[in-house]
Amino acid sequence: MKKIFLLSGTLLFLTLCLFITKWTESTPKPIPFTPAPETAPSTYTPNESFPPTDRSIYKDGLVPEYQGVLNELPFASMYEIKFNIADDLYHITGNETVIYTNAEDIELKEVKFRLFANILGGEMHVDEVTVNDEVIIPNYSLNDSLLTVPLKTPIKPKESITLSMDFNLTVPQTVELNYGVQAYYEDVLALAHAFPMIAVYDDEGWNAEIPPQSGDVTYADMSFFLVTVDAPKGVTLVGSGREISRQESGSRQMVKYEAGPVRDFYLAASPEYEVFTKESNGVTLRFYTRDYLQEGAESALDVAARAIEVYGKRYAPYPYTELDFVSTPTYALGIEYPGMIAITEWIIQPGEDYLEGTVAHEVGHQWFYNLVGNDQLDDPWLDESITQFATLQYFTDEYGQAGNQGFRQDMEGRWANIGKEEIPIGLPVKDYNDAEYSGIIYGRGGLFFESLRNEMGSEIFDVFMKDYVQNNSWDIATPKKLKSEAEAHCGCNLTPLFEKWIYP
Ligand SMILES: [Zn+2]
Repeated sequence: MKKIFLLSGTLLFLTLCLFITKWTESTPKPIPFTPAPETAPSTYTPNESFPPTDRSIYKDGLVPEYQGVLNELPFASMYEIKFNIADDLYHITGNETVIYTNAEDIELKEVKFRLFANILGGEMHVDEVTVNDEVIIPNYSLNDSLLTVPLKTPIKPKESITLSMDFNLTVPQTVELNYGVQAYYEDVLALAHAFPMIAVYDDEGWNAEIPPQSGDVTYADMSFFLVTVDAPKGVTLVGSGREISRQESGSRQMVKYEAGPVRDFYLAASPEYEVFTKESNGVTLRFYTRDYLQEGAESALDVAARAIEVYGKRYAPYPYTELDFVSTPTYALGIEYPGMIAITEWIIQPGEDYLEGTVAHEVGHQWFYNLVGNDQLDDPWLDESITQFATLQYFTDEYGQAGNQGFRQDMEGRWANIGKEEIPIGLPVKDYNDAEYSGIIYGRGGLFFESLRNEMGSEIFDVFMKDYVQNNSWDIATPKKLKSEAEAHCGCNLTPLFEKWIYP
């Protein structure tokens, strides 16, 4: 996400300056997954009643280089969700069935879901959860954003259970809260994090907290989604992943999507959307926005295609066959979702100072946030700072030394806004105020990677970046992993550099 500032730019590049924005029914039975006989690696011992599911439906959404991942990720959650969007476009009912597998080596006595709507200005409720045919009344905490399902029988390591629930959701009709990531406003429905999402279990246990308002809200594992959206026929629907079927009946339409592996499922809808399309190296890029923004949308798609090429060469190929942009009335400039990017409407003008940097940055998140995941609340530098550095590489590769200087100055400028204070980059979002978050995570943090490259030597650094992305693809990276992989590449001790920049 690039959100707590505007970019004030010139000519080719962007000058980023600090700007603090205000923060702020019918539920048919889900269709069961078809079990598949044999896709898991040998380390996986499937539970007989919940064998690994057939993932072939996800193949066409991935470029050939990545299709092999469908035989990996044995522990990835398999979601099947139905959203029923009322005619007013902000009342939603739905149901969700998820196959959850215990990837830990201990038994789990509960499963935790995030109901982010309840801290984003909306309202979401689940009355009961069915676990392997048994009805369980869940507990709510963290301002109703955490739903805990106590299990009568703990899940053993590598065992799977099926949980299903109905939910209802009222979407806020304002963008004053939460940057409008989840909002129905000016005829656009932006539906981020709108389903009960399983929290990450990591070395801290179930990892859940109320996200600080300045950063991204989710921390999620790779999952697979089959999502059906039942909505009024007059709106154009745009979902993560790939549309696999479409039906119309009376005044309604029913559209089904597959997405996976991805860390989230995002949906946008509007009666105003027109679509502009570009094909580039096996990826279909689409921009859904109002028709009078065609020129800006097409210019954004050109930037996106070039950014995919730069990051593809420097890090790894873009994983999916589609990348969709939508314009939304968000207070952020842009927000990343897996295979989708929301761009705020007012910057979608050709030559608009903020457009190129925002698009290049958000496309970079497809590598750093989605493909390589991280705890966005505890280690924001692992997605935001590295994406700023990726954006610097985009401007360097596209415009040479002048591009490098332009974007470098933007990062310097952000840091200068807080007097170039040497505040560590490695703090959780909650430890920064808004100005520090911009200055350190988007300014100093991007510059750290230049220092790292100088320390390692640029040839070794380039190999390290490729290997870092490859080694951590579809997984969660940590600061420790990044440091030890960098040290393994340079055969050097990076502790002094990390002590200067990352940790106090
Ligand atoms: Zn970002």
